[in-house]
Amino acid sequence: MSNPKGKTYIVEHLDPELGQWSELEYVAIAKETQVAQGTFLLSSLPEAFNVPPALSQVPAFKPERRGVEELYANDKSRVCLLDPSASSDLGPDDGDKFDAFLFGGILGDDPPRDRTSELRKKGFEGRRLGPKQMTTDTAVRVTRMVVEDKIPLDEISYLDFPELKFNDHESTQMPFRYVKGQDGKPMMPEGMIQLIEKDADKSIDDLF
Ligand code: SAM
Repeated sequence: MSNPKGKTYIVEHLDPELGQWSELEYVAIAKETQVAQGTFLLSSLPEAFNVPPALSQVPAFKPERRGVEELYANDKSRVCLLDPSASSDLGPDDGDKFDAFLFGGILGDDPPRDRTSELRKKGFEGRRLGPKQMTTDTAVRVTRMVVEDKIPLDEISYLDFPELKFNDHESTQMPFRYVKGQDGKPMMPEGMIQLIEKDADKSIDDLF
């Protein structure tokens, strides 16, 4: 049986560049993985990729030029792909079966475009995290709760499609499932609410 702690979380970078939104998500994944004494691999990074300091200063974070197929060429069966289209859901026992958990480095979209299919083609065994689309940091958080803390998926408290209220007149609804934090609010990376508010202001300005 493998050690339930010290898991590896791999996000295969699939977008051409690292946007601000992804950076905040990856910093949150890195910090939480650090606390859990695991490793966060950001794989398939382009040659010219500059790792932002907020990420490189977290010891659990490992930037990687190679793709996951090359990294795990001899160990494919130890890697689980978190796949919204998989036929079975992730369970606490999967923490014994797999050492590494693989996620698509893709921003959430509505409706989902199934870009996780790019990883599905590589033949890793897949597991679903329930029927609703999560942000990448939420997907990693939920995976860790299931395989390390052994909490079954249906016992986790979620907030689906929460509305973020910026003031009396402005709010935005997020089309994703989040983990409910102890304060009753959706768990989000530090700085994300401010970024969403800024992006919402920008799109309102674009209308004029
Ligand atoms: N719209 C997406 C797509 O094109 O596939 C989903 C992207 S989601 C924001 C980023 C990653 O989180 C996915 O590639 C997957 O690894 C993981 N993920 C998110 N929700 C999931 C779910 N319900 N079940 C399994 N994995 C999920």
